[in-house]
Amino acid sequence: MFDPLTSTYSFSCPHGRDARVPLSAFRSLERLPGAAHPAVYRISFACSCGGEHPGLVSHDDLDWAPLGLRAGGTFRNLMTSLDDPLAAELVEVVAARIGAGEWPWSFYCFLEGRPRPVTPSAFALIAPGGRSLGLAVRCPACAAVSVNLVSRAHLDVPFWNDVRVGVVDHVFGEDALRAIDEFRAELDSARFDERRLDLEP
Ligand SMILES: [Zn+2]
Ligand SMILES: [Zn+2]
Repeated sequence: MFDPLTSTYSFSCPHGRDARVPLSAFRSLERLPGAAHPAVYRISFACSCGGEHPGLVSHDDLDWAPLGLRAGGTFRNLMTSLDDPLAAELVEVVAARIGAGEWPWSFYCFLEGRPRPVTPSAFALIAPGGRSLGLAVRCPACAAVSVNLVSRAHLDVPFWNDVRVGVVDHVFGEDALRAIDEFRAELDSARFDERRLDLEP
């Protein structure tokens, strides 16, 4: 499903094209009701064939696989000369970075007026526009929907975090998230303020 070497997700394309895409090619994400363990998300993605197709992603693949936390294999621990599982080592690396105040993904919550750590399962819509992406995020803390303008790397490279992001100067309603075309239209007419994304350690 997620390939840690290329940081892409594999889906099927009805036109038989190679449908391996990074997170930034996702266009909409919605948690399916029911299936709680593990939760499953219905997504749509922009395919290399030019179309947009649906796909399903588990919560683990969405939030943890990009951090390499499901990577198989072992590595030689030079301290102990033993082969340790790779994922266990990565958990330590990721935990250390998060403990030091870094977060794999972040966004600026307009309602709270502050940056917040986030994971991809809180993303609702992604719309490309020029060199950046409009990203609608459902805040894990206050549940309000904010829209940030971010780089592709901000989504595709964990711990990248753009220093500054554009923030639409109003909260988006749930209905704005239901139709991606309306979201794109609203993005085109929206005003963006620039905000810094430094998270408090
Ligand atoms: Zn396709
Ligand atoms: Zn918030």
